[in-house]
Amino acid sequence: MALDLKPIPNDLRAFWMPFTANRQFKAAPRMFVAAENMHYTTADGRQVLDGTAGLWCCNAGHKRPKIVEAIQRQAAELDYAPAFQMGHPLAFELANRLVDMAPDGMEHVFYTNSGSESVETALKIALAYHRARGEGQRTRLIGRERGYHGVNFGGISVGGIVNNRKNFGTLLAGVDHLPHTHLPENAWTKGQPEHGAHLADELERIAALHGPETIAAVIVEPMAGSTGVLMPPKGYLERLREITRKHGILLIFDEVITGFGRLGSSFAAEHFGVQPDMITTAKGLTNGVIPMGAVLTSAEIHDAFMHGPDHLIELFHGYTYSGNPIACAAALGTLETYAEEGLFARAAELAPYWEEALHSLRDKPNVIDIRNMGLIGAVELAPIAGAPTKRAFSAFLKAYEKGLLIRTTGDIIALSPPLIIERGQIDEIVDTLGEVLEEVE
Ligand code: PLP
Repeated sequence: MALDLKPIPNDLRAFWMPFTANRQFKAAPRMFVAAENMHYTTADGRQVLDGTAGLWCCNAGHKRPKIVEAIQRQAAELDYAPAFQMGHPLAFELANRLVDMAPDGMEHVFYTNSGSESVETALKIALAYHRARGEGQRTRLIGRERGYHGVNFGGISVGGIVNNRKNFGTLLAGVDHLPHTHLPENAWTKGQPEHGAHLADELERIAALHGPETIAAVIVEPMAGSTGVLMPPKGYLERLREITRKHGILLIFDEVITGFGRLGSSFAAEHFGVQPDMITTAKGLTNGVIPMGAVLTSAEIHDAFMHGPDHLIELFHGYTYSGNPIACAAALGTLETYAEEGLFARAAELAPYWEEALHSLRDKPNVIDIRNMGLIGAVELAPIAGAPTKRAFSAFLKAYEKGLLIRTTGDIIALSPPLIIERGQIDEIVDTLGEVLEEVE
């Protein structure tokens, strides 16, 4: 079939691109015009292998028939229903499906439109939950250095990526941070690192400093993605759970990346066998196709709000597009695709091959660490002296030229291909990346 390639617009000025070097991009644009399964098509007709599942979101690959069909059908049937005080069947059906596949203890679903909104929602629910139980003094929120929880004010306050915080004022009050878990002695680890469980004990210090009875919630990514793929040290998440439980503090797992199969299980909570009180999701929920997020909560949290006169709203929170019908249809099509094709199990099955392939890059120039788990991995490069991030960005540009999409953060190359990837395509990623590393300065 002839491709209908769209020419690059003449004028790129108006669009202020997110998290992008705008001037660099507009001087040499990189445009995708189509996608199918494991590949993007560029405006000049080249195929680019997707090594990142878009932005960690297209876990089932691209242009998947069930999802396309679900969206088309839903748009022609019920395009929108008011999210407040009205319902539509798909929102309930999807919530039931999510609860069925979620780790034990997750029994209710609150819809959002993105990972950032899921985080804001979970933080607000945590504060309101304690207040509803008569513990309104629990107002502090604890995040972690290097954490990424989206870009809204709650998320950047509990987040710990300096560039995402420093230009935006004083942020939320009453926030503190655990130390990050990136320890040099864990370099070259396959799977969970040995060292670092003790870093969770810092929560005891923070609790003692502020008074544990003032802390509402701790939020962490069970595996930190955006900062450059940091696996939780063995025993670390278990310790966090123990300490939070002991002090009546809620534990929120931000699973915007780890949800929906990335580690070879539905959720990281299941993968690591640690049960949080809330899980934030987005991305893979709709395969990235329609913006949607969801917060999963325990029954205990939900039920704390369900009292007082029946006609009163229990939680003063929600979005115009919470549970949008077309987003729900996309999510149901996505979950069906994951289930029919056994994609989470497939990720687990491919993980050892992925691990070996990735670690074969160990001796390439400037590589100082490689780490992996499920179908995610990172290759960390030594920064160029005086020009941090430049080496990895050059690698990104060169990989794109060679037909491979990678993602970089700082001087770390992050890889997270769609879970439909074939072994031959894993080889292709590693071979291309190997060439790139040989060639970049
Ligand atoms: N939380 C985590 C763990 C993420 O990785 C991301 C995005 O990468 C977000 C939240 C924010 O999601 P969004 O960009 O959909 O707002």
